[in-house]
Amino acid sequence: TAPPDELVVDDLTVVYGRSIQALTSVTLRAPVGGIVALLGANGAGKSTLLRAVSGTLPLHTGSIAGGTIHFGERPLTSLPPADVVAAGVVQVPEGRRVFSELSVEENLRAGLLGTPALRRPAARDAVDRIFGLFPVLAERRRQSAGLLSGGEQQMLALGRALMAGPRMLLLDEPSLGLAPQIVERIAQIVRDIHAQGTGVLLVEQNAALALELSDHAYVLDVGRIRLDGPSDELSCSDDIRRLYLGEQ
Ligand code: ATP
Repeated sequence: TAPPDELVVDDLTVVYGRSIQALTSVTLRAPVGGIVALLGANGAGKSTLLRAVSGTLPLHTGSIAGGTIHFGERPLTSLPPADVVAAGVVQVPEGRRVFSELSVEENLRAGLLGTPALRRPAARDAVDRIFGLFPVLAERRRQSAGLLSGGEQQMLALGRALMAGPRMLLLDEPSLGLAPQIVERIAQIVRDIHAQGTGVLLVEQNAALALELSDHAYVLDVGRIRLDGPSDELSCSDDIRRLYLGEQ
């Protein structure tokens, strides 16, 4: 079994339907004390890996065909999403999905659905903590989430994931479609989240950003881990510079 305080994916194979194999024998570790990045081109299988961990694969007709996922001693393999959240592992959904008809505050409270804190004063504390992290959301607490800018919706999606007090956050493409200035703010927030003791597994197409933020990185290539290593070493690797950092 895995040591405590670590997300361990071991020899994981994932299929969609009967025949599309999206991941083949993937092994990786993400400790609670770190930020781990998962790089790879379009279709490499990055989102698939996060879905496998968060238990949302069945929503996409996917399933685990082999291998295991543990968080510390706890097996997460093929658990339903609510049980994965209860184990302390929370995914920020792809495409920064928010409930656009609900207010900002209602969206945050939705992050406590299925947890005992939902009705307690603890819920108020959790909302206040998130507003402390994202003051711009506090200013708009009663506004419909659909009226927020793209960057604000990303903050709301992040804030909602943080409501349940996760030990490990799974982040799918937080920079996608955002202006550089906003990307820098999101990056700072990821650093803050990590500094407050939450591990981060970060999926990013923006390899430069991912390598800057993370301690360790894995490169996925057509469903297999091609290489991994400390992020500062990978950012010096000729292959990485050529393939993922857009250099000649
Ligand atoms: P992107 O950055 O484009 O999202 P990704 O690295 O996250 O890429 P995945 O979305 O995990 O890649 O896709 C991995 C492979 O699985 C791709 O070949 C993709 O076409 C396939 N795939 C993804 N979702 C499904 C699905 N619901 N049904 C069938 N095949 C799928």
